[in-house]
Amino acid sequence: MSPAAWTVASIRRALEAKTISARELTKEFYARISLENPRLNCYLALSPERAYARADAIDENFRRGESLPVLAGVPVAIKDVLSTRGTTTTAGSRILENYVPPYDCTVVERLETAGAIILGKTNCDEFAMGSSNENSAYGPVLNPAAPDRVPGGSSGGSAAAVAANLAVAALGTDTGGSIRQPGALCGVPAMMPTYGRVSRYGLIAFASSLDRIGPFAQTTEDVARVLQVIAGRDPMDATSAGAPVPDYLPASNQPVKGLRLGIPKEYYGEGIDPQVRKKTEAAIERFNRLGCQPVEIRMPHTAYAVPVYYLIATAEASSNLARFDGVRYGLRVNGANLSEMYRKTRGTGFGSEVKRRIMLGTYALSAGYYEAYYLKAQKVRSLIARDFAEAFKKADVVLTPTSPVPAFKLGERTADPLTMYLADIFTVPGSLAGVTAISVPCGKTAEGLPVGLQIYGPHFGESRVLQLARAFEAAGGFAG
Ligand code: GLN
Repeated sequence: MSPAAWTVASIRRALEAKTISARELTKEFYARISLENPRLNCYLALSPERAYARADAIDENFRRGESLPVLAGVPVAIKDVLSTRGTTTTAGSRILENYVPPYDCTVVERLETAGAIILGKTNCDEFAMGSSNENSAYGPVLNPAAPDRVPGGSSGGSAAAVAANLAVAALGTDTGGSIRQPGALCGVPAMMPTYGRVSRYGLIAFASSLDRIGPFAQTTEDVARVLQVIAGRDPMDATSAGAPVPDYLPASNQPVKGLRLGIPKEYYGEGIDPQVRKKTEAAIERFNRLGCQPVEIRMPHTAYAVPVYYLIATAEASSNLARFDGVRYGLRVNGANLSEMYRKTRGTGFGSEVKRRIMLGTYALSAGYYEAYYLKAQKVRSLIARDFAEAFKKADVVLTPTSPVPAFKLGERTADPLTMYLADIFTVPGSLAGVTAISVPCGKTAEGLPVGLQIYGPHFGESRVLQLARAFEAAGGFAG
C-alpha cells in the first residue's frame, strides 16, 4: 500500500492484520521523507531513534497480546515551536539554532502515550510570525500542489508534510490563522481548537492570549481523532479548560439537516479572489443541498480585526520574546558589556519580521501610547468577540473563505508586510474571539491551487464544526 492511502483507521487495520509493523511503516515514511524533503523543506529535524523506539514498543506490546492504543503507529509531524525532549527545537529562528529542550510539551507527550510516532519537527515562520513560511531562518517550504508557491504559514511545514504524505497527521499552532491558512493553501483539513481546549505547556509562546495548538490530517475523521487525544485540562497550563472533552467521532457523526449557516456579509466583500469566492459559494450551495439553511448575518467589527490583532499580538510577542537574551537559551554573541551582549545576540539571532514585531509591540505598550493603542485594541477585541456571540445566536456555524487568495508565488509578497498581514483577514477575528474553526478543502482553482472553506463554531463547539466538515467531506465537497 502506498503511504498516500494511510489514515489512522487503515494503519490500525494493517497492524491488526499484521500486514505491516509499526517499525516498517515508520521506515516507509522516513524513506519517503529522504526522497521528498530536500525539495520541499518541510522537516527541519528528524527523530528516527525516538520514532523507532516507540514503534518497536508498539510492535512488542501487540505481539505480547496487548491491544493497540488509539493512534498506534500513526506517523506524525510536529511544528518546531513545540518542545521535544532531545530533539532540536528552533521555532524557525537562528536564535534557537542549537536549542535542545529538556522536556516534552504536553501535546507531544499525549500523542506518544496514545501510540503516535513522532517523525520530526516541521519548518515554520520564525516564532510563528508570518503567513507564507518565508520568514523561517531555514528557508521556505514549497507548496506540494505548486512548487513555485508558498504553503502558507506559519505552520507551512506541517501542512505541506501532510499534503505531500510525509506524515499522516501533524500539529501546528494558530495565533491569527497559522493552522487554518496553510491548511487551506495546501489542501488539507486543519483545525484551530477553542482557546483553552488544548494545553499550551511546552509551546514557545508568540502571543499567549491567542496561541492555540491543533491538528492537520488527511481526513476530517483523523482531525477528530488527533484532537481527541490532545484536548483536555492540563495542570501544567493554567489556561487549559476543565470543560469535559466530548467523544468527537460519535458527536460529529450526526445528520446536518436543519443546521443554520451564518453567512456574514462582511466576509464576502472586496478583495476576495474571484475563484475563491466561486468555490466558497459552491460549498454553501452544497450545504444547502444537504438540508442546511444559510442565514445572512452581520459581523460589523470585522474590519478592525487585522489592526487589533497586530497590536495585541505584537505587544504580547515583545514581552514573550524578552526571554531570548543570550543568557538562558540558544545563541549568545559576546560584547564588551552586558547590554552590548544583549544587543548583539538579539540583533544577530532574530530575523527582520521578528524585530519589526518586537518594535511595534514595545511601542504599543510604552507609557503614553498604552491607552491609545493597546487598551483601545483590547476594547475592540471585546466587540469582535461580541460579533461572534451574536452570530451564534442566529446560526449554528459561520461559513467564510479561509484565505482571500489561493497560494501566492514565493517572493511575491515579502517586500510588503502589509499585504502579507491582509492574508489573515478572515482568520484573525476568530483568533481574537477565542472560538474554534476548521479549514477544509473545497476544490481547486483553474491553476490547480487548493481553496479552503472556513467553518467557525462557538466556544467548545468542536463537535459541531467537525460534524459539518465530515458531512461536507462525505458529500464530495473536498473535490469542489
Ligand atoms: N499570519 C499571522 C501572523 O503573522 C498569524 C500567525 C500565526 O497564527 N501564528 O501573525
